[in-house]
Amino acid sequence: MTIREVREAVRARSAADVCADALARIETLNPQLNAFNTVVADQAMARAEAIDREPDRWRDAPLAGVPIAVKDNLCTRGIRTTASSRMLEHYVPPYDATVVSRLERAGGVIVGKTNCDEFAMGSSNETSAFGPVRNPWALDRIPGGTSGGSAAAVAARLTPMALGSDTGGSIRQPASLCGVVGLKPTYGRVSRYGLIAHASSLDQVGPLTRTVYDAALTLNVLAGSDEADATCAAEPVPDYTAALTGDVRGTRIGIPRALLEQGVDAEVSGAMDAALDVLKARGATLVDVDLPHACFATPVYYLVSTAEASSNLARYDGVRYGFRAKDESLRGMYAKTRARGFGAEVKRRIMLGTYVLSAGYYDAYYLKAQQVRTLVLRDYDRAFADVDVVAMPTSPLPAVRIGERVSDPVQMYLMDVFTVSANLSGLPAISVPCGFTRGPGVSKLGDAASSEGGLPIGLQLMGRRFDEATLLRVADAYERDTEWSTQPPPLISNR
Ligand code: GLN
Repeated sequence: MTIREVREAVRARSAADVCADALARIETLNPQLNAFNTVVADQAMARAEAIDREPDRWRDAPLAGVPIAVKDNLCTRGIRTTASSRMLEHYVPPYDATVVSRLERAGGVIVGKTNCDEFAMGSSNETSAFGPVRNPWALDRIPGGTSGGSAAAVAARLTPMALGSDTGGSIRQPASLCGVVGLKPTYGRVSRYGLIAHASSLDQVGPLTRTVYDAALTLNVLAGSDEADATCAAEPVPDYTAALTGDVRGTRIGIPRALLEQGVDAEVSGAMDAALDVLKARGATLVDVDLPHACFATPVYYLVSTAEASSNLARYDGVRYGFRAKDESLRGMYAKTRARGFGAEVKRRIMLGTYVLSAGYYDAYYLKAQQVRTLVLRDYDRAFADVDVVAMPTSPLPAVRIGERVSDPVQMYLMDVFTVSANLSGLPAISVPCGFTRGPGVSKLGDAASSEGGLPIGLQLMGRRFDEATLLRVADAYERDTEWSTQPPPLISNR
């Protein structure tokens, strides 16, 4: 069910009934998917029953009785929050992230915490200390990362909505590979209080849903200033669902043709072109835009994000939170704690980040990266003087097999080519399902990725700062003319 359908079911039956259904599906399907690190069945049932007991209080609440999954890097009071790391395996936060309390205030029922890449570092959900998540469309494939558990939960119809976080694509890329909608709001649109920090100038929280309407509805609840987060903007929050008019006549959609020549799977570019034709038929105008520095976005991202991550992760020293290794000396304790508590990818990022911030290399790497970041941002600002949204694929490839890329970090980082610039420039971006691979003979990359049909493909739209309304309007208009989001994965349909 979508959020809309759940709300009707809650009225017709009860929140407890809807919650019991969701928990039953999680119990049957999660062993195959590994989408959840923690399920809080008793707590969720108690909460749903409490909502049923006070129908008047919850009647107009936008998410009354809606089962919700929360990425395991968002703090939940009294519920273990691990960031999928050994370091925080037994960490139970004493407070809720602002987004979590806002969802609860809107009537949401939290059913569990979703698996992700360790500290949200990865592109495939394979860096989790608790094992990879499996893609509901093909269990031998990655769901994408880092919010892979959230994407898999929504795609497999375990919950109608899940929260994710996006530092360089972690909401949009798994949404794309799992065939669901993923929205990364503008930097500052949604509070990050209680989000376990990865890279502070890039991190944003956002929803993964089945439909664009549900994403708009959730953003209504999440968006807005927060006195606990000074980086959260005071910009007024419109009713995002009111923006979904279906009308894209005269909307200008920019396409960065030159950037797309960088190696996009033939199935992916075919699906994107077909999606743009749909929007054109609805009255949108397609224009070419030039983003000359976008090709530097990936290296810039991996310099800036690792620098910030190395600093953010300094707090895990065995003293303040989580795991502590035993040693006679203080320094020995620090070293052993970090050696055992962190996985290989996190260590790689801490080393890279520490290096680019070191006295001798700061100017050459970190400072240079920040300068090029400004050039990337200016490209977009220039493009948005002429167009309302910029369109490109979310991921250059459909879901690859588990294990296929994990041994080659650079290949893994290249999965992020189209998503990182939104974070570098703070822009909002959405991924909407735009088709499925057709299988053998179509892919030209020879990469095992497209050797199989039936894998979801996502279209990415980027917008102006704080103009999520336009993004949602265009994405919704496209969704109205297609049926991609109504098809369940075989895992479900075979049952
Ligand atoms: N794949 C990117 C990385 O590994 C993005 C991660 C994210 O958005 N959290 O850093």
